[in-house]
Formats: sequence, structure tokens, C-alpha cells
Amino acid sequence: MSKKINNKKASDDQFNRAADLIGLDEKIRTSLNVPDRELMVEVPLRKDDGSIESFRGYRVQHNNSRGPFKGGIRFHEEVDLDEVRALAALMTWKTALVDIPYGGGEGGISVDPSTLSDLELERLSRRFFRAINPIIGVNRDIPAPDVNTNPQIMAWFMDEYGMINGHTPGIVTGKPIELGGSLGRNAATGKGTAIIARETANLLNMDLQDAKIVIQGFGNVGSFAGRFLHEMGSKIVAVSDVNGGLYDPDGLNIPSMIKHNNSNGTIKGFSQGDKVSNEDILNIECDFLIPAALGGVVHKMNVDKLNCKVIIEAANGPVTPPADDILFQKGVHVVPDILTNAGGVTVSYFEWVQNLQQFQWTEEEVNNKLEHKMVAAFNEVADMMNSKKTSMRMAAFAVAIDRVARSFEMRGV
Ligand code: GLU
Repeated sequence: MSKKINNKKASDDQFNRAADLIGLDEKIRTSLNVPDRELMVEVPLRKDDGSIESFRGYRVQHNNSRGPFKGGIRFHEEVDLDEVRALAALMTWKTALVDIPYGGGEGGISVDPSTLSDLELERLSRRFFRAINPIIGVNRDIPAPDVNTNPQIMAWFMDEYGMINGHTPGIVTGKPIELGGSLGRNAATGKGTAIIARETANLLNMDLQDAKIVIQGFGNVGSFAGRFLHEMGSKIVAVSDVNGGLYDPDGLNIPSMIKHNNSNGTIKGFSQGDKVSNEDILNIECDFLIPAALGGVVHKMNVDKLNCKVIIEAANGPVTPPADDILFQKGVHVVPDILTNAGGVTVSYFEWVQNLQQFQWTEEEVNNKLEHKMVAAFNEVADMMNSKKTSMRMAAFAVAIDRVARSFEMRGV
């Protein structure tokens, strides 16, 4: 059983440890860590059979010292206020770490979208966006996709917002290209993950060409990360999705697997590899383990069974704090989520800039700028890690918190 890590207590703990590391002034700690604003809304849905069901929705705005709140909207049955709070805080540190002019926010609805028809999903999405309309804005708070939300849902959000406030493409990112989405946005989180894996390999003197990689989760992030790492020459030995995993020590054919996944919505039934469960896939011997699904998959109860040299956190919060401490003691590097998966929000930023400029950049331009941002953030984290003799997670938090603190102090209260 996985344990939910994305809770505010865990993120407070990470914040406080990093704040101690950089000697953050006690007087501003609360202001930096407590969310600025929390909105909870009731989202009624007219079902296809005419009945009405009520769902709970959230938008938490954590901190905007460096710019408008920014972060995803998650549709999942486990979404609750505490989780959204923790994810909103992570977004503040993530945007600061890659040095883009945003704060952090997060939203979501507590719903299992697989139980809804397409039309029900559309009605629910629109109704939710109308409910959070009072606190969002192109210079206030800019939502984006997260778990179980996608470009189509962003298109409905943009349309709904536009009906109330006038056409405003920059109100959400991760839109379809035709509606002002950025080239490269869909692949960005996976691409960023692959860039970070490459930089980590260089830092640790490992050869990415020979590296064995396990990817847990084959949604948007996991599949693109797999594709780019495969292109870089790594051997992806195991992959899983909600229906289970596949393992081949000689390396899976990732391009064919992606094709299979695109046409079937799952890797299940793919012709290559031995079956392996979602739990057991974590124990396969490898160089890089990339958890790219939900939070809390590596925890105190299973951490001793892992058999990897490095964990690259492509999901938000896949390693619980107690497991993180154990891994640090064992010398297993954990590359934190706020660094690994920051490629998504980085290209969201590029999308927003293009929307404001009303001008589209080429995919090459987007990718070059993404590469630059990811490598710069990685190097800052590596420098901090070496100078403070700490974990990569603490180093990443330290860089980010210091940046937010400076903006907070300069602006004043
Ligand atoms: N939900 C993504 C994340 O956690 C993307 C957020 C965004 O693009 O604003 O980083």
C-alpha cells in the first residue's frame, strides 16, 4: 500500500529543514510557508441520467512573492485540502528553483474521472472553473494540467473563463496548440526529466549509455521521459502503468511501446517483456528508478527492498520523508521532484509569454530555452549540495527558499 506523502506536514518538515540549512530568518518563516489563500468550492454535476452529484473542489494559492500563482489542477479521488496545500507549496519552490517569475498554487477536484462520461467531465470541468473564477487571472493565478487533466480540459477552462472575462489564452497553460498552447509543452516534463537524468549521470560519473532504467508510470511524464532516455541510449528495462508492468533485462522497445500505449491507453498487452507488479517493479536492479505516477510510492516499509543507485522523482512526492532519510544514509541519491519535473511548468511559462506576446515560438526555440533553464537549475542545486554537504532535495529547497525569501523581503509587507 502506498502512503500519501503530499501532505502539508511533510512539506512543512522539508521547508523547515532547508530553512535551518540556510539560516532563514525565523520572523519570515511563517509568511513564506503558510498558504496566502485557500478556496474550497462545491461543484455540482448534472449526470447524464439527470441526477445531480456534488464534488469538492479546491484552489490553494501558496505564495506570490515572485509573480502570479502557478500550478496544476488535479482530478483524483484522493484530492483533499491538505494534499492541495502541499502541492501548492511545492509549486512555489519549483518555480523559484528554475527561476521563472511565478509563485505557487495548486487545485483539484476530489473525483475519479474514469467514472465520468466525456460530457460529464466537460460539465464538471467548466463548473469548477466558474467556481474558482473570482481568484484566478492572467496576472493573478494561472492553472495548468496535473494528474488526470489534459489539454482538452485546459481548452474548456479557457473557454469558460473567456465567456465571463473575454478571450484570455494566457489564463491557463498546457492548452492544445491550436488554442495558443506551446510547441513542446506536452513533452516538456518528460524532456526535463531526461535532461536531469543526464546531468545526474554526469555529476555521479555514471554512463547514461549503459544505464539501466526502470520507469513506474507511463502517462504523459513517464512515456516522454522513456522516449528521450531511450533516444539518449539508455536501456529501459521495466515500465509499468496502473494495469501492471513489463520487464525485459535486455531493454524494452520504447518507441513501439509508446505506439501500443497510444492506441490502447495502456501498456497492457504489449508483446515484449515479462509481467511484473507495480510494487515489484520498484525492486528491480537498475541504475535509475524513475517514479512517474503518484506520490508516496517509496515509503518506510518498502525502501529497503529497492535496488537502484539513483531515484529521479518525476512524480510529485513519490518518496516519503522517512524513506528519503533512509536513502540518504544508504548513499542512494534522490533527485527531487521540484527539480526533476520542473520542465512542465517551465514550458508553461514559455506558453504564457507567447500568449502575452501573441506570437508563437518554434519548437526548437522552446526546447533550447528549456535545456538552458534545467541545466542552470541543476548546477545551482549541485553547487549548493557540495557547499552544504547535504542531500539534493535539501539543496534544491535551499536554493528555492532563499530566492523567495529575497523577493519577499524586498517587496516588504
Ligand atoms: N502540474 C505540473 C507540475 O506539478 C505543471 C504545473 C504548471 O505547468 O503550471 O509541475
